[in-house]
Amino acid sequence: MNAGFSEEALIEQYEAMGISRPVYRYAQSVLEDLKPRFEQIDQVAEYNQMKVIRAMQEAYVSEACLHGTTGYGYNDLGRETLEAVYAGVFHTEAALVRPQITCGTHALALALMSNLRPGDELLSPAGKPYDTLEEVIGIRPSRGSLKEYGISYRQVDLTAEGGFDWEGIRGAINEKTRMATIQRSKGYQTRQTFSVEQIGELIAFIKSIKPDVICMVDNCYGEFTQLLEPSDVGADLCVGSLIKNPGGGLAPIGGYLAGNRECIENAACRLISPGLGREVGATLNVLPSFYQGLFLAPAVTAGAVKGAVFAASLYERLGFRVVPKGDAPRFDIIQAVEFGTPEGLIAFCEGIQAAAPVDSFVTPQPWDMPGYDSQVIMAAGAFVSGASIELSADGPLKAPYAAFFQGGLTWHHARFGIMKSLQRCLDRKVIDQIPFTD
Ligand SMILES: *Cc1c(COP(=O)(O)O)cnc(C)c1O
Repeated sequence: MNAGFSEEALIEQYEAMGISRPVYRYAQSVLEDLKPRFEQIDQVAEYNQMKVIRAMQEAYVSEACLHGTTGYGYNDLGRETLEAVYAGVFHTEAALVRPQITCGTHALALALMSNLRPGDELLSPAGKPYDTLEEVIGIRPSRGSLKEYGISYRQVDLTAEGGFDWEGIRGAINEKTRMATIQRSKGYQTRQTFSVEQIGELIAFIKSIKPDVICMVDNCYGEFTQLLEPSDVGADLCVGSLIKNPGGGLAPIGGYLAGNRECIENAACRLISPGLGREVGATLNVLPSFYQGLFLAPAVTAGAVKGAVFAASLYERLGFRVVPKGDAPRFDIIQAVEFGTPEGLIAFCEGIQAAAPVDSFVTPQPWDMPGYDSQVIMAAGAFVSGASIELSADGPLKAPYAAFFQGGLTWHHARFGIMKSLQRCLDRKVIDQIPFTD
């Protein structure tokens, strides 16, 4: 037995937080079966923790690196060293890691706009990209899109089985094809998330047809979920947001690009200015959070992956459709649970909100969010506004009434949030019964 641990004390603590004994016991029974799974997730975290520490040591991170600059930000040791650390983690020639990159969409837009020239064509070989990229590319007409600059776009949809359409891709590559954009995570689509190995296969195929196609991977939500990153299997650029996995919950803003020197220089000259490039860009006070967040990121990501697996397993046993399934391998931190009714989706989100450290007392309401054809409900009580590495959930109020759930800075918080969501579903009679009742 654990010295000093009393399960009864824990149960009472949970009861004080609104979790009934049956919900606790049902959750425990689900967790019992997940032990081997959690061990594997911890092994991935351990490997990636060493990867991050090694990159920090090899880049000679020193105390002086934690102090930022102001103004132009010339000779910013912390910024330059941090970019070397990211290049070390992703095994790339260079990286651009900046608070001036405001979000994931900005990082992706930057990568595309800086590496494509008028007359070039962008290929999406794996179906529709993330919603916000539609306006960047100009799939939906938009001010400042790639399309406005004379950059065309071609998309090859996945096959009915969700695989790559190899012949379609071969046929789509032409003399104008300059860049390919590949999204690792399914995001809020229903397809599978691609593993790094699948992405490697896709990149090798594209390069076998046209070796100079720049292959960019939208790495959002995927970082540190596997031993390898897309840059380990041929990606020229990996791009993501620091308020997701690699910021470890501490970065208050920012995005990164890791890739070959040419692509990164192009991005720096576009982000800042031709001629200035990577040499300017003050870091103000963000460096400690960028370093420490990256240091924590493997463990934080592992906690979020455990939360996703736990949620899938817990709701799957109650008869709900979950994507991915509880026992499916994980290549990102997103979990969908289909409730089939608006009441179920709303109760789930209310439970997640009620578990938050910040704003736990507010009740999320469905609202008419711009750009959506139905109402949307969102639950988040985050330290960093909008950070989806923190425990959060949302979903559109239309069939199949799926809640998309992700994050949790610690596994124990993710666990609490999921138990709270189940409790709310029971209290609201969205769910009549769970396997354990006192
Ligand atoms: C979050 C996300 C983005 C966009 O990031 P924002 O920070 O919300 O702009 C792009 N692609 C994927 C797969 C994402 O998950």
